[in-house]
Amino acid sequence: MEDCIFCQIVVGEIPGEIVHTTERTVAFRDLNPQAPLHVLVVPKGHFANAAELAAGDPAASAELLTTAAAVATAEGYDDYRLVFNTGEGVGQTVFHTHLHVLAGRSMTWPPG
Ligand code: IMP
Repeated sequence: MEDCIFCQIVVGEIPGEIVHTTERTVAFRDLNPQAPLHVLVVPKGHFANAAELAAGDPAASAELLTTAAAVATAEGYDDYRLVFNTGEGVGQTVFHTHLHVLAGRSMTWPPG
């Protein structure tokens, strides 16, 4: 998708602070971090949200989770929060599947 910002980061057309790559995923720091660690893990292929990715590329879907865990461990965090926003109503703003990996501060539940 030529107008998708995360597709452009995946192929290097626009810069991203990439911290980890695997066969099917790329992990980069969020531009507007909400915690000391805030990384987004995205599939290299374009899917609008987590459910579409799970249906369309189950291997990449699983790899998002293993990549998220690897990033948290590499950054020194045992405790971390993983978030998929799905739909504008809950705050999704970029419609290329991305898993938020957040750590390094106390967090409340339920989320706001
Ligand atoms: P969403 O609200 O779940 O869709 O999350 C989108 C996230 O992408 C937000 O946390 C933004 O700060 C982040 N973001 C938007 N553009 C960029 C970028 O170019 N690089 C890194 N993060 C971005």
